[in-house]
Amino acid sequence: MPEGHTIHRAARDHERDLGGRRVKVSSPQGRFDTEALADADGCASLRSVEAYGKHLFYRFEPDFVVHVHLGLFGRFHRRRSPAPPPRATTRLRLEGDTITIDLVGPTACDLLTPEEMRAITARLGPDPLRADARPRSFYAHLARSRSPVGAVLMDQSVICGVGNVYRAEVLHLLGIHPDTPAKEIPPETARAMWRLVVGLLRRGVEEKRIVTTRGLVLAKPRERVLRAESTHVYGRRTCRSCQGEVATYTLRARTVYCCESCQPRVGAAAADGP
Ligand SMILES: [Zn+2]
Repeated sequence: MPEGHTIHRAARDHERDLGGRRVKVSSPQGRFDTEALADADGCASLRSVEAYGKHLFYRFEPDFVVHVHLGLFGRFHRRRSPAPPPRATTRLRLEGDTITIDLVGPTACDLLTPEEMRAITARLGPDPLRADARPRSFYAHLARSRSPVGAVLMDQSVICGVGNVYRAEVLHLLGIHPDTPAKEIPPETARAMWRLVVGLLRRGVEEKRIVTTRGLVLAKPRERVLRAESTHVYGRRTCRSCQGEVATYTLRARTVYCCESCQPRVGAAAADGP
């Protein structure tokens, strides 16, 4: 599933490509009803594109919002206009003068009112990539939750945009075992965690991929960093930091990666652990 950096990058690119312009809106697959949004020519004015966590909001004049959630299988295809005919499975095509964006296979693609959009964002935790993000509620949730911090970091109602790769890497870089109860994370570590997530996600937006190992791969240009070199523990058998074995197990239906040497179990996590 795309993590927050992919969604924010899409918002930035799509706003640059189509924002402030008349855009032809169509649903070749027929599963998105464009009638309320578009005029008789099938066009609408796109004001801006906004990301919040894993959600995208395309704001059209006068007051329409197209909400997109890619889910596991959703993809965008960006082409120069005039683009070739869309695939039959294209849920939404946004066609500008110079660029055409096709959306295929999203979990959600709905027309909303601004109030309905606010109802979605109200359920989400702070998004570290947004300028208006306030981490206070994230700190408060960590301080009272007995849940494993590895689960809390993936809970979009607590903090937005962190997926499985960032979860694994953030906890590794801080030396925290994913099973540690959230409330055992000291306040200063919680603040360091937020700053680290902000930094890594921002880097992901710029580089359009997740690389958490800068110091180790400086000798190479970014595009030549191999996937196995881009993380410390995620997707690896051995820990990049200590060469020890990476432990993998399932936590709330997702695979966790951690190095139990660099990220030792502490306190209650050790007592409850296998
Ligand atoms: Zn290690």
